[in-house]
Amino acid sequence: MPTKSTNPPRRAEQSFKGTPLSPGLALGRICLFNEYRHSNLPEYRVSGTGIRREERRVRRAVVVAAERLDELRLQVAARIGPAEAEIFTAQKMILQDASLAADIVKRIREQRVNAETAITDSLQVFERRFQEMDDAYLKDRATDIGEVRRRLLDVLGNMRPGLQCQGGGQHCQRGYKRIVVAEELTPSLSIELDTEDVLAFVTVHGGANSHAAILARGLGVPAVSGIPGIREQVRCGDEIWINGDTGEVVLHPAPERLAAVVAARQAREAHAGEVSPPVPGFAVFANVSSAEEVRQAVAAGAEGIGLYRTEFELLQVARVLTEEEQVTRYQAVLAAAAGRPVTFRLFDLGSDKQFPALGIPAETNPALGWRGARLLLGRPELFGDQARAIVRAAAGQPVRVLYPMITDAAQFLELKRRFLNATGELDVRHISHGVMFEVPAACLEADSVLAVADFASIGTNDLTQYLFAVDRDNDLVAGDFSADQPALWRVLDLLVQAAAAAGKSLTLCGELGGNPLVVPRLIGLGLRTVSVAPRLITSVRAAARPVLTA
Ligand code: PEP
Ligand code: MG
Repeated sequence: MPTKSTNPPRRAEQSFKGTPLSPGLALGRICLFNEYRHSNLPEYRVSGTGIRREERRVRRAVVVAAERLDELRLQVAARIGPAEAEIFTAQKMILQDASLAADIVKRIREQRVNAETAITDSLQVFERRFQEMDDAYLKDRATDIGEVRRRLLDVLGNMRPGLQCQGGGQHCQRGYKRIVVAEELTPSLSIELDTEDVLAFVTVHGGANSHAAILARGLGVPAVSGIPGIREQVRCGDEIWINGDTGEVVLHPAPERLAAVVAARQAREAHAGEVSPPVPGFAVFANVSSAEEVRQAVAAGAEGIGLYRTEFELLQVARVLTEEEQVTRYQAVLAAAAGRPVTFRLFDLGSDKQFPALGIPAETNPALGWRGARLLLGRPELFGDQARAIVRAAAGQPVRVLYPMITDAAQFLELKRRFLNATGELDVRHISHGVMFEVPAACLEADSVLAVADFASIGTNDLTQYLFAVDRDNDLVAGDFSADQPALWRVLDLLVQAAAAAGKSLTLCGELGGNPLVVPRLIGLGLRTVSVAPRLITSVRAAARPVLTA
């Protein structure tokens, strides 16, 4: 009699394409996160002394949640860095906002509902308002409000965030490595789930600018978001493969794919920690936005920092940093660079990097509006504080300052004049002033711009956007955002020639420089310096070496 096989049938492979949030590869078993633990909350009516009891419960929940946030802040500061730890300060500010407490208490008193109901209703209203905003940055802040709501409800119900698949097998238990699938990647999810055991995160929602994405990158845990319905399609224990570099996710990978995946991972691990030596005649610098990233860049062998996006220091804390606070951060960046050259790009705010703390009015076309150099001209106090902070942090060591979104020589000279005015009493002899070539008009006037600048850097991300009138952030037109267009290469050629004629150093710091397939062509043009994400340094050098040493 034939025996019946006890092996369950192999499930068909399913591929998804999401948004890469944090780089790296992972293959493992799924654990689902129990974000629905608040779906059955107690709901009851109150009156008389019951009203005061619910108010007391809210006040206590706020105090305990604030203490937990303080603990998390210290933990994150020690494990990742002070900038990332500020996320929990931002949540504490929301938690302790007087108008929020007043709204919750009003609901208890007027609607005679319990604390859980009042908190849920009140915070969901705020959360929805933020979710509906057009601005990607503010949309991401809705996550913080949701986090605060969950924290208060956890305290009231004596619950903790955790994994939900008790029946899903051993990989959900402490000590087993797993890939966490969740509706949304929140800061607490990133940090509280014993991240040593988390191989990767896959989520339905979550923006690349969200705090949680920043944390996942800081923790070095690969993450992909933007996969609708993934939670409903998987079970605890299912096998899944994720590529945090490309956003590719494969559920139930087929045996052939598994072999390829394992080989890719082994190849990557074999090269992990391996630092490729510099290529003679071709400098590879790094793009960073914090001192922690400078440390990663140095570990990856960067010859210097070609682009420090200083505006990210403000975006992360959602407020303007004082001159003193900036000095501290800039000193940390210079210390981490340990004598390598550092290029500070002045705040490039506006457009996709909306920053409500500056009170910029809503614009119908922000990419063409008050951003970059124009914003620096319009906010002299912001500009002056930053100029002084950079010069003070440099304290006599050479530093390069890069001016974003410059349109012509006159605009650059006016900003430089203001920089020197603001730093009047300080020693600025070691500061050099450079121009970003990312607005087509400035590129066409490269000769006159380079005549007054000390150095220049090409921002191909914005240059492509403005040259071809193609939004760099819009999925619908992403197909037109291509490097393979003669007009772009004509402009690049023009810039390389102009810089050579003027005898000024030229770097390319847009994403294009990190594409190994394009590197030989850039070298062919005569370009000799690129600045790329730290994790791309090795592959860029590998592409450049044979061209220059042949
Ligand atoms: C660019 O535009 O290419 C650039 C490097 O700057 P950012 O991406 O910060 O706009
Ligand atoms: Mg730019």
